[in-house]
Amino acid sequence: MNTFQFQNPTRIIFGPGTVDTLAEQLAEYGKRVLLIYGGGSIKASGLYDQVQSQLKQAGAVVHELAGVEPNPRVSTVRKGIALCREHQLDFILAVGGGSVLDAAKAVAVGVPYEGDVWDFLTYKAEIKSALPLGTVLTLTATGSEMNGSSVITNWEENLKKAFGSIHAYPKFSILDPTWTFTVPANQTVNGIVDMMSHVFEQYFSLTSDTPLQERLCESILQTVIENGELALKQPDNYAARANLMLCGTYALNGGMISVGMQNDWASHMIEHEISAIYDIAHAEGLSILFPNWMKYVHKERIDRFVQFAVRVWNVDPAGKSDEDIALAGIQATRDYFTRIGAPASLGDLKIDGKDLERMAKETVRYGPVGSFKKLNEEDVRQILELSL
Ligand code: NAP
Ligand code: FE
Repeated sequence: MNTFQFQNPTRIIFGPGTVDTLAEQLAEYGKRVLLIYGGGSIKASGLYDQVQSQLKQAGAVVHELAGVEPNPRVSTVRKGIALCREHQLDFILAVGGGSVLDAAKAVAVGVPYEGDVWDFLTYKAEIKSALPLGTVLTLTATGSEMNGSSVITNWEENLKKAFGSIHAYPKFSILDPTWTFTVPANQTVNGIVDMMSHVFEQYFSLTSDTPLQERLCESILQTVIENGELALKQPDNYAARANLMLCGTYALNGGMISVGMQNDWASHMIEHEISAIYDIAHAEGLSILFPNWMKYVHKERIDRFVQFAVRVWNVDPAGKSDEDIALAGIQATRDYFTRIGAPASLGDLKIDGKDLERMAKETVRYGPVGSFKKLNEEDVRQILELSL
C-alpha cells in the first residue's frame, strides 16, 4: 500500500424529501445564487418548482443559467461566469446530472480567476479559489456530487479536458433517489457503465497489499451489477435506485475506495477524445473501450484480472489457466454491458477509423497515459483499432 492523504469536504444529504433541506443548507452560504440546470428534465419532473420554493424560503436573489448541454461546453461555462460577475453572485446551485454539476464547478472556479477558465483545463493555470457550490443530483453516474473533478468540452477546438481541485468539491449535495425514477433507460445504462468504469480505473492497479480497497471495489461492482438490471426493469424501484446512487457516489469521491493505490484513468482519457469529436455519451465510449483496454493490458498483472473474474463475475477457476480465467472475466464484462444495451464497437455508433490517429495523438498530448500499463500513442491507436 502506498502512502496517502485523503480529504473529502462534501456533506451528503441522502433520502426521499431531502430537497426540503435546501433552504437550511443555503443559510450557511450566500444569498445571491446562480441556479444552473440542463435542457429541461428538472422542469418536467417538478424538481424545478421545489427548488424555487426553497430558494424563495431562503430569501435568495436568483439568476439562472439554463440549457447546459450533455458534454458541457466551455462557451456555456463562460456565460455562467459572466452572469456571476455582472450580478455579483456568491453561490452556485447546480440541479441536474454530471454535465450540469461539472459546468457549475467550472463556473465556480472561473469567477475569481482573472484569465480564461479554459486555462484550468489545459494546465496553464492553477486553481486557487472558487465560489461555494451546492448540488441537487438527478442522475446517478459520474460521482461529480462528491468529488472535485469537472470535464468540459471546447467545441471550437474539438477538445474535451478535465480538471480536479479541492476547491471544486461541492459544499453539500442533496441526493434523493426518487428524482432518478424518470431517468430514461439509455441514461440509466450510461450511468451503470460510467460507475463501473470509475471502479475499474482504480481497481486495476499494480499496487499490492490493498485487500480492503480491492474488496470495496468488488462490492461496489457487484452491487451495481445487481441493482442496475433491477432499476432497468423497474425504473421506480426505490431500493434499486438508492443503491445505485450510493454506488455512484462511492465509486468516485476523491479516491476513498482506492487510497494507497495507483489509479489508471487511461480509458477515460481515450474516451474524452472520442466524445470531443463525435459528441457521444461518455459512457457509450467507455462501454466500447474498457473491455478492449482490459484485453490489451491484462497480462501486466494477471492475478488482479483472475481475482476480478472469480470474485466479481463468479467465473469457476477449476481446470482453467490464469489466462483463460482472466479472459472469461473480461468477456463477462463485455456480455453484461451488451445485455443491458450499451454499445460494443465504434461501428455501432457509426464511427469509422478516419479520426483514429488524431484521437490517439491528442490522448497523449501531455505524455503517456495510464499506470497499470503506460500507454503511448501507438498503444492508444491499437486499443482504438480493437474498438472499431
Ligand atoms: P448528463 O450529461 O448530465 O445528462 C444526460 C441526460 O440525462 C441529459 O439529457 C439530462 O437532461 C438527462 N437527465 C438528467 N437527469 C434526469 C432525470 N432525473 N430524468 C430524466 N432525464 C434526466 O449525464 P451524466 O452521465 O451524469 O454526465 C456526463 C458528463 O459527465 C460527461 O461530460 C462526462 O465526461 C462527465 N463525467 C464527469 C465526471 C466527474 O468526476 N466530474 C466523471 C465521469 C464523467 P437535462 O439536460 O434536461 O437535465
Ligand atoms: Fe466517467
